Amino acid sequence: MDVRELSEVDTVGVVGAGTMGNGIAQVAAMAGYDVIMRDIETQYVDRGLDSIEDSLSRFVTKERLSQEEADEALDRVRGTTDLADLAAADLVVEAAVENMDIKRDIFADVDEVTDGDVVLATNTSTLSITTIAAATNRPEKVVGVHFMNPVPIMKGVEVVVGEKTAPEAVELAHEFSEALDKETWESDDKPGFVTNRILMPWLNEGIRAYDEGVASKEDIDRGMTLGTNVPMGPLTLADHIGLDICLDASETLHEELGDRYKPAYLLKRKVDAGDLGKKTGKGFYEYD
Ligand code: NAD
Repeated sequence: MDVRELSEVDTVGVVGAGTMGNGIAQVAAMAGYDVIMRDIETQYVDRGLDSIEDSLSRFVTKERLSQEEADEALDRVRGTTDLADLAAADLVVEAAVENMDIKRDIFADVDEVTDGDVVLATNTSTLSITTIAAATNRPEKVVGVHFMNPVPIMKGVEVVVGEKTAPEAVELAHEFSEALDKETWESDDKPGFVTNRILMPWLNEGIRAYDEGVASKEDIDRGMTLGTNVPMGPLTLADHIGLDICLDASETLHEELGDRYKPAYLLKRKVDAGDLGKKTGKGFYEYD
């Protein structure tokens, strides 16, 4: 399989200069890659560049980067509105809006302008990698790299394997993420992958609990953080992710998966079998 390997990647193309796109551009630049960040209008490109500059200066304030390193990283990011500029990319990461038609148009365009061995990755939270890949002539070189928000802070990247994604493209997705100092896990191309499939019902339930007067929003978040040891409650986390993003993701999952709120069959089976978790030495995991 003719796939451009990590050692051949110098320039990373990023499509979209919004929350995720500028975050990905920043961490790639911090890792020493030249970045071409493309958005549709100059104002969005400029806003993305400003966000990177702000974020880098916070790294300097926290002494995680020197001023010189921050300046060099910023210099490595070139903003553009010209799709043709992506021709120089050795790897492309798309982080435009969460809309299948738009993503398919972007992938068809990027497929045209980039060399045939370049892997095209998407940061989609919920959309099918396989369907996006089908808009290109290289579906085996299309893979999901689902960065978490905020990208410069969050360690995890979910690598999503489409129906036709080749092992070489999957390997590149892991290696590239690791080169950006991230840790990865892999998901099949099923709605919501691992993270959003589990997270979205949780967020929606928190929102419904608030709407139905179960508790104040502060107490719902407090209950979930203190009660289940997560760093943020559902309402705070939904606000951090962006409510529009949450709604788009939820609608996709609803369309694909229907009612997800019944107790899982496997949960009932395990309880019937007496496998109650840590206290019985066995639940989904085994314990000493
Ligand atoms: P955003 O709205 O902040 O940014 C999207 C950007 O894409 C905008 O600047 C928009 O102008 C640009 N855009 C639209 N069409 C374009 C095109 N044809 N070419 C280039 N740019 C185009 O959205 P975001 O939060 O950065 O999300 C981007 C992607 O990342 C989505 O697929 C989303 O599901 C995914 N994602 C988001 C989060 C999150 O927490 N926000 C987390 C993980 C993944």
